[in-house]
Amino acid sequence: MPTAVRVIMLGRQGAGKGTQCRLLSEHFGAPHISTGEMLRSAIRQDTVVGRAVKKVLDEGNLVEDDLMVSLVQGRIGETDARVGGYILDGFPRTVGQATAFDHITEVRPVDIVVNLEVKRELVLSRLSARRTCEQCDANYISDGNDPKPWKCAKCGGLVHQRDDDTPEAISHRLDLYDSLTSPLIDYYMSKSRLVVVDGLGTTEEVFERLTSAVKAAQA
Ligand code: AMP
Repeated sequence: MPTAVRVIMLGRQGAGKGTQCRLLSEHFGAPHISTGEMLRSAIRQDTVVGRAVKKVLDEGNLVEDDLMVSLVQGRIGETDARVGGYILDGFPRTVGQATAFDHITEVRPVDIVVNLEVKRELVLSRLSARRTCEQCDANYISDGNDPKPWKCAKCGGLVHQRDDDTPEAISHRLDLYDSLTSPLIDYYMSKSRLVVVDGLGTTEEVFERLTSAVKAAQA
């Protein structure tokens, strides 16, 4: 039976976390848990949680810690994550979330926390060109000549620009990353669980670095 792998992926918005987490998920057979995608899906389905968080997401703010922790706690308790582990993308985003998560996972702690490093100047241009499938969350890059309507090659859903990928929201989200999420790097460094991976290069090059880092952490 394959061993479970538990990974936390940190990195600025636009660093390529989504793409790499999907690949890691396929490779290691652990579910990709994206908290942003969980929230967008709740908004699409107009659930109680979705209605409560829509404005927060549109403005590029952070959803409160308690709600995020309980959402993630519920998700990692599902069978696929209990058996296969998880590739956690977008959580934790604050030291409060990280502390609560350590508590929850005391018995089965994460194997590795990766900081996928890409400088702010670079992710800014990536995010402005990013287009996302509103159904499956796959990402595409706009070259300014977008097909209309733009159908997702993976699921046929509509590809659009996320409401929080406007210049104002992007800049606000990156500020929040610097002030609230980047302290997590020191938090996990002090616990000797952090590995920094260079996020520059082709998808394949970055994936190779990530798989090596995860395997080394499992060994
Ligand atoms: P993402 O897809 O990771 O960029 O997340 C999109 C949005 O979802 C963020 O800008 C936040 O509004 C919200 N969100 C996702 N994960 C978290 C989290 N761990 N804590 C607070 N808000 C979150």
